[in-house]
Amino acid sequence: MQVCDMCGEDSNELFAEKHGLEYLRCVKCSFVFSNTTDFDFTSFNEEIIEDLQSLHVGKLNSPRHLKQYRQLLKEFEPYRQSGRFLEIGCSTGSFLSKVRDAGWQEYGVEPVASSARYGIDQLGLNIHVGVLETAGLESDSFDVVYSNAVVEHLSSPSEVIADASRILRPGGLFYADTVNLDSYTWRFLGARWKLFDPRMHLSLFTPETLRVFCEKSGLEVIKMTSHGVRFHATREDKPQGVNRLLDEMRKAPYSWAARRTLKGDNIAVYAVKPR
Ligand SMILES: [Zn+2]
Repeated sequence: MQVCDMCGEDSNELFAEKHGLEYLRCVKCSFVFSNTTDFDFTSFNEEIIEDLQSLHVGKLNSPRHLKQYRQLLKEFEPYRQSGRFLEIGCSTGSFLSKVRDAGWQEYGVEPVASSARYGIDQLGLNIHVGVLETAGLESDSFDVVYSNAVVEHLSSPSEVIADASRILRPGGLFYADTVNLDSYTWRFLGARWKLFDPRMHLSLFTPETLRVFCEKSGLEVIKMTSHGVRFHATREDKPQGVNRLLDEMRKAPYSWAARRTLKGDNIAVYAVKPR
């Protein structure tokens, strides 16, 4: 039996099956996670992440991402004291290079060596090749610890969030965004949803469980945001022409509500380390 990373309970039930693998749900706290017993998750993830590398490099100068990056950097600015900024799972460094450009002292950790090498060699970034636990980062030393679409890939998010909390200075900010299981998209698509993939996304959060993980590590949640609604499992399923327009109109109220109800398919948490 697999132990729940959120509460330590070892009894769980089948939540759903996909790609021949299982998602389990803890009977005590309802946290949903992959059954990692008979599958080599590490090598599977390294393979697909290497495939995704060109996509990450493409983010470096895409206008949509630049706008998003600028908005985030503005939100992080009030936390700047020593100027130390860490990105967990920084991939090829497209965001981290903007962090550096904004005058922060940038640090990245990235376990996929080829991605990390791109950031180090092509962008001149300060990246540790490996995981956070082996990076040897000092306690109480960072203003901001940031992660984008990373925590869902972890089999033990509690370890990583606890280490993020350790290295933050008192008053520093932890930010993480991830897939939201308690979303309209999950309600509409269920297991057909592309991001519902037990081979890749080992931990599936809701706003509630993401909050508990932060609080368990001594962080205080100050804000949560959510966005994104999908009606179609793949791009090929999307309607064309007039139907597409009707579809967008049907989607608008959900997109609007998602920001308030936290039922968008992406959720982000902002949590501070108490002084
Ligand atoms: Zn549990």
